[in-house]
Amino acid sequence: MIQRIRISSLIGIHVLILAHIYYFGDSVIGSVDFQEFFHAFIKYGIINAGVVMVMIAFISTLIFGRFFCGWACHFGALQEFSWWVLKKMNIVPKTINSSLVTILPLFILLNFYVAPNLIHSIKMPWEKLVINFGMPEIWAFLPGFMIGLLTFIVDGFLIVYFLGRKGFCRFLCPWGAFLKLPSSLAMFKVRKVGTCIECGVCTDNCPIGIDVTYEINNHEKVTNTNCTSCMVCTDGCPSQAIAYKWKNPFRENFQFKHYGLNLKMFKLSAISDKFQSVHKKDYLLLPLILFCGFCIDGLYGMGHFLSFGIATIIAIQVIDPNKKINFLLKYLLIAIIIWHGIIKFSIWRGLDHYDSQRHGPAISHLNRVVMMYPKPIGRFHMILSEMYLHEGNFIKAEKHALIASKINPEHEGPKQFLNKLYYKIDNQ
Ligand code: SF4
Ligand code: SF4
Repeated sequence: MIQRIRISSLIGIHVLILAHIYYFGDSVIGSVDFQEFFHAFIKYGIINAGVVMVMIAFISTLIFGRFFCGWACHFGALQEFSWWVLKKMNIVPKTINSSLVTILPLFILLNFYVAPNLIHSIKMPWEKLVINFGMPEIWAFLPGFMIGLLTFIVDGFLIVYFLGRKGFCRFLCPWGAFLKLPSSLAMFKVRKVGTCIECGVCTDNCPIGIDVTYEINNHEKVTNTNCTSCMVCTDGCPSQAIAYKWKNPFRENFQFKHYGLNLKMFKLSAISDKFQSVHKKDYLLLPLILFCGFCIDGLYGMGHFLSFGIATIIAIQVIDPNKKINFLLKYLLIAIIIWHGIIKFSIWRGLDHYDSQRHGPAISHLNRVVMMYPKPIGRFHMILSEMYLHEGNFIKAEKHALIASKINPEHEGPKQFLNKLYYKIDNQ
């Protein structure tokens, strides 16, 4: 019954959002996105719809645990759906266990959302707190259709296939990382209330891959801060040994060791073959994911979720002895990542030299970019035109401006530049 209510909640919330957009358009309530808390509130001191949602999620997590993740989040729902579809196809991927499930989401949260916005607000402090529920518009931080679709495919089906249950929530989600602290203090938790026969059913059923059996028998409750309060474990327990129950926080037994990594987990024979530990290779996995992620992040309009989702899947395949992709494909993927890493590096160096008016090295880096980047970008050709004009190389200046004009025929910039160039040539 509870699961029916939960699934209805997951569907109902998204139907309500779509109905709202259909009825009110996108101007009454702006972007309801977790990142608003960082982009709007921390950076500019703006309280908008997204900031209110984050505050509600934070406070409700202090009481009910990560209810938001289990009962409202579309990424969570998509991954549960993907797991269900794979099971129907008789594919049951092993759930990968690694200490990166704690480190990586926290790194993504701090590096991409907390640090840059906090630094901005320190350098340029807000003048006053502003309340504006209409801004930014609802689609402001969403990618285009193709990148959005690809994000759902990679962070839904593919990540579940390669990393197991809720691979995205466990390895990547920065909003999950943000809710870990209130989750550890939550008053409602899954608690031991009867005799456990150690059948492992709760661990097997848990959609996020928590060793419920181990935690309730060693800590008397589920302490894992990834718990989404979905109650799948309590629903399926054959001996009613566990229940989702409130406890006075002042009487709660908080111990740091409950939140740390314990290699004794996932050893019960009934469930051990459903999980696979890569802990011994974590030291290799972390730099590999970061390397792959930074090589592609931002290219083709890809956001952090998509690029680091791809990076995590590839890195796991590289270090995993039970890999699902063959040797050749694995190294082809790594070669593609390195190729894009060279492009990213060249863009970074090229634009930096350009900003500092060092045209020689800027031209060399940006020429590499336009040669290697499969996606034609008019802006890089325009920058090259400008620099070639400045250097007196009219032929190359014209060549790049014509390419830029062909890439973006509706833009006036390349046309105006060509007019200026021809005028200059005529008056030489
Ligand atoms: S431990 Fe229980 S309540 Fe928490 S996520 Fe797993 S199944 Fe859901
Ligand atoms: S399902 Fe119930 S009895 Fe079985 S291991 Fe979990 S808590 Fe114990």
